[in-house]
Amino acid sequence: MKLVSTNPSKNYEILGQVEISSKKEILEKIILAREASVSWEKIGLDIRIKHIKKVINAFEAKQKDLALLMCREMGMPILQAENDLKDGIDFLNWYCDNAHTYLDSETTYENTHELHQVFHEPRGVVAVIVPWNFPFTNFVWQAGQNLICGNTIIFKDSEEVPLFGKAIEDIFLQANFPKGVFNEVYGDRKTGEYLIQQDIDAICFTGSTKTGKSIYKIGAEKMIPVHIELGGSSPGIVFKNADIDKVIDTLYKFKFLNCGQMCKGLKRLLVHESRMEEIIEKLTKKILSKKIGDAEDRTTDIGPLVAERQVALLEEQVKDAINKGAKILIGGKRPNNLQGAYYEPTLLTKITKDMRVWQEEVFGPVLPIIPFKTEDEAIALANDTIYGLGAYVFTEDNELFARVAPKIKSGMVSQNNINFVKACNPFGGYKKSGLGREHGKYGFHELTQIKVISIEK
Ligand code: NAD
Repeated sequence: MKLVSTNPSKNYEILGQVEISSKKEILEKIILAREASVSWEKIGLDIRIKHIKKVINAFEAKQKDLALLMCREMGMPILQAENDLKDGIDFLNWYCDNAHTYLDSETTYENTHELHQVFHEPRGVVAVIVPWNFPFTNFVWQAGQNLICGNTIIFKDSEEVPLFGKAIEDIFLQANFPKGVFNEVYGDRKTGEYLIQQDIDAICFTGSTKTGKSIYKIGAEKMIPVHIELGGSSPGIVFKNADIDKVIDTLYKFKFLNCGQMCKGLKRLLVHESRMEEIIEKLTKKILSKKIGDAEDRTTDIGPLVAERQVALLEEQVKDAINKGAKILIGGKRPNNLQGAYYEPTLLTKITKDMRVWQEEVFGPVLPIIPFKTEDEAIALANDTIYGLGAYVFTEDNELFARVAPKIKSGMVSQNNINFVKACNPFGGYKKSGLGREHGKYGFHELTQIKVISIEK
């Protein structure tokens, strides 16, 4: 059985295929990972970092090819794909360069008789399962800190990007990475389900909230840590005193980069009623200046979605909104002149809370816009979601921002053009957006066992 890879920019032209891992192969890889976990812990942080730096060099050497593969297989516009490669490499370097700061032992108490210290030990064998939307950074964010912490990994990429998954495995082979430390298996949901039922010590998962819930149950049965990064419906709030010209580019990017397929992306735009007309006019103008087309074309701004199933889901969500009274300002359909998983960037108004575009995560280039009158109403609307990943506040009033940010129930809140995603910042959500944090000190600590050793002097 094989996973077939197709190009959503070019009417699903076949790009290649990868063999699905058998149950026997999955079990063999888990045994290899278990055996390797002893030596990977023992060699210590500095040698682990040396090995990981070789992998980083190998990724750097293949950066252009990998970006092109990502662009063809997933539909990410080539310039964005090249940036994703660069960002992922920067994150890996940050993890390596800062690992000692957060993983070295720490003295918590000392007097003339006793010394108490906290140590970070690896968890062991970790199943890492990721989606397709950022084929490189999804891998980096879940696997990078795990390897540095001394865990060994069984990695499963999404069935939508099997060739990119294979390219990652090849890089580890080329870098002569120690055998059994990084292992990869291939397949869809069934492979993932089988993998997490086996003898593993933790699960690190990025994907939908629906899948996250079922994975969490399995982790609970096994009493192992489950680190889950899930969906989002991040609000963007444009307050009365926002400088719209200053933030319009950012607003566009937070929503429409990667064709709106970003977990942390801006998914509901809340606008002070006095600025509705201006925002709609300026956002429409911005969108109309963008080119929709083949992701491989260097002049393309918005490529296709990843697959037909994602376009079909988006169509259903928009249809539901229209049936319940929403108004399409721009877009709202597949473009006539393109063959593939394309959908036009879409702005919707006259949104009501019973609509799927309000209640569900919209993973594509469709933005519902809703007006508000007061600060309290804006906060209530922002929090009216099962998710709590990010939030974006557009205002020139720093005091207002300082009042609003703590009241938003999400893991990350930013003002104007600032991006909260940084390797030093914890990334993760409240509510049904996940459990745990990636990056920085929190990311390192969650992936380790924390042990106190108290010695007599
Ligand atoms: P998905 O949950 O369908 O699949 C994700 C991965 O899990 C795939 O590799 C899939 O094969 C595997 N899988 C599916 N069912 C499984 C099961 N029962 N057991 C084990 N593995 C299983 O998600 P998707 O549609 O591929 O990705 C899009 C979702 O990912 C969106 O909701 C998006 O918001 C979310 N996402 C979240 C973050 C974050 O950091 N919070 C980052 C990127 C994407």
